[in-house]
Amino acid sequence: MNVYDSARMADTLAPLGYVETDKVDDADMVVINTCHIREKASEKVFSELGRLRRMKETRQSEQNRDMSIAVAGCVAQAEGEEIARRAPWVDVIVGPQAYHTLPELVSKLDPSSRGAVMNTDFPVEDKFDFLPEEHAPRGPAAFLSVQEGCDKFCTFCVVPYTRGAEFSRPVKSIIDEAKRLLATGTVELTLLGQNVNAWHGMAVDGSTWNFGRLLYALAELDGLKRLRYVTSHPLDMHDLLFDAHVEIPQLMPYLHLPVQSGSNRILEAMNRRHDRDAYFKIIERLRHGRADMAVSGDFIVGFPGESDRDFADTLNLINEVKYASAYSFKYSPRPGTPAASDDMQIDEAVKSERLAGLQQLLTSQQQAFNHSKLDQVMDVLIERPANRAGQKAGRSPWMQAVHFSEDVGQIGDIVPLKIVSATQNSLAGQAVI
Ligand code: SAH
Ligand code: SF4
Repeated sequence: MNVYDSARMADTLAPLGYVETDKVDDADMVVINTCHIREKASEKVFSELGRLRRMKETRQSEQNRDMSIAVAGCVAQAEGEEIARRAPWVDVIVGPQAYHTLPELVSKLDPSSRGAVMNTDFPVEDKFDFLPEEHAPRGPAAFLSVQEGCDKFCTFCVVPYTRGAEFSRPVKSIIDEAKRLLATGTVELTLLGQNVNAWHGMAVDGSTWNFGRLLYALAELDGLKRLRYVTSHPLDMHDLLFDAHVEIPQLMPYLHLPVQSGSNRILEAMNRRHDRDAYFKIIERLRHGRADMAVSGDFIVGFPGESDRDFADTLNLINEVKYASAYSFKYSPRPGTPAASDDMQIDEAVKSERLAGLQQLLTSQQQAFNHSKLDQVMDVLIERPANRAGQKAGRSPWMQAVHFSEDVGQIGDIVPLKIVSATQNSLAGQAVI
């Protein structure tokens, strides 16, 4: 979602004459879009700000040229005051629900004054109504945010505090954006939301649709060849969504469905509001509907009170499900969340040991999944030139990175490729003659 938000921030600044650059040295303004989900991510912001301060000062003294610095995203939201206090060289602080006001904030910049202009409101108006259209094509595979915020309050998570209450974009606004993207060369859409399958938006006739219904409507659009969505919560799976996985050919056979833990006791303490059996049933139903369905997940190890037995339950769940890929994290206590003040915190060394064991298992599953595709022919969406000269890179239906000869197809094409080698992180393909 931060990638999507960053692109939209660039859209808001384009009418002011700003264009994106890859090099900080070239930039008149640097916007850091930040993440607050774990402590590590938010600590990085302050070290990055220190680096930018030195650049700003050198530029001012040696070139008499200014550089403005903006901090956006969830660290800005959660720690805006602290950033302003600890880093007075920051010029703009803007939260994730207020970045449509960037042009206004930038217009208030005054190089002669110290201190930041700030907007960390959760505006009542819908930011999407105020964002300008995309100023540049987004490429063959693009993100589209449909749902933001969260009302679930898992006991470890800051999202409900930083992104605010659950909000679903209305159908028309989503379809309009999808049509614009498809008209400029996008063929694959990934719908985004903190709990994307909880989306329930207003249709043009005033009725409320669920997420499954939205997928059916998007699948009708001209030019849409692939459809994905991320991230889903098990509790928000619903009948029409299961049907969509069986009936919509563009919907890719891959679902990111985090479970966090395989222990019922920990799931309850996390306030996930489902048990492991409910999760197994969802996976079973998906695979029953589509035999080639692959699943990825998120896991947290070392949640307060997690015993060896709880952890063993997680390993056991992973062995049952067999993941195509997964993200896993050591529990990170976040300020203001209930679990952070639990007095059963787990030792850092235990967390590290559990994470290593878990990742070893997940890595071997990912490797096995990739190897299972050897010698198969699969459709690959060509996304870009590869890092290695003479090659292009694309994605399989299951999100695997595939590289192949640059002579094959054009960027934006979907081509059949035979998989000739597989590693843990990628596949190599060959044109089918
Ligand atoms: N809404 C999604 C997840 C959003 S947060 C869901 O409910 O599944 C993305 C991931 O970050 C989570 O799935 C979780 O694994 C991880 N995460 C969130 N808070 C964390 C914390 N305090 N410590 C460690 N990992 C965390
Ligand atoms: Fe965070 Fe996801 Fe739980 Fe919401 S459902 S509180 S985003 S982990």
